[in-house]
Amino acid sequence: LFLTFEGIDGSGKSTQARLLADVLRAQGCEVLLTREPGGSAGAEEIRRLVLEGDPDRWSAETEILLFTAARRDHMERTILPALAAGQIVICDRFADSTRMYQGLSRGDLRALVDQLHELMIGREPDLTLLIDMDPETGLARAKGRQGSEERFEDFGPDLQKRMRQGFLDLSQEYAGRFRVIDGNRDMGEVAQDVADIVLKAL
Ligand code: C5P
Repeated sequence: LFLTFEGIDGSGKSTQARLLADVLRAQGCEVLLTREPGGSAGAEEIRRLVLEGDPDRWSAETEILLFTAARRDHMERTILPALAAGQIVICDRFADSTRMYQGLSRGDLRALVDQLHELMIGREPDLTLLIDMDPETGLARAKGRQGSEERFEDFGPDLQKRMRQGFLDLSQEYAGRFRVIDGNRDMGEVAQDVADIVLKAL
């Protein structure tokens, strides 16, 4: 089973991914918890190339190629071997984040993201948990984080709002695999919803 968490910065998806991994392991499941960009040695190197330094270092198109290259390596080296070994893979962000961030933030490049995905990745998650969150709260949370590497915090609330709506639209486009969870609640309540959805899907 291949599960992904998606949502805007500060939505709490990384925390929820960790809590879900704990729940599943307690049930005796073998779980691989991973994240994007990154998740394999090569993809972590690409993560540094895209998230550190001057944000204008790469053109929007080159950035999409780098994200896709990172995902390809992550798939080959980490995700597919774990799935083949029967593990449950939980990934904090995946292609839907690229559809949103690289697809919408620097012009309308969604078609390019989708074309490269089809060509080089060719697989969607079985289940995607969208932690939906009020953009202002998410931004405040993301900014409060220590050692934060959120690269879009300077873009401010407008981009966050567009991203939130974009994720909700995506959840309609891929209604079969998406579940939307209200993230504007206590962490434990959100975790309970997540666990209920996933245990039902197993
Ligand atoms: O999810 P995480 O907090 O690790 O993401 C780190 C940063 O990378 C965030 O600012 C996020 O918005 C950005 N990002 C991105 N494009 C992606 C995935 C993440 O710009 N496809």
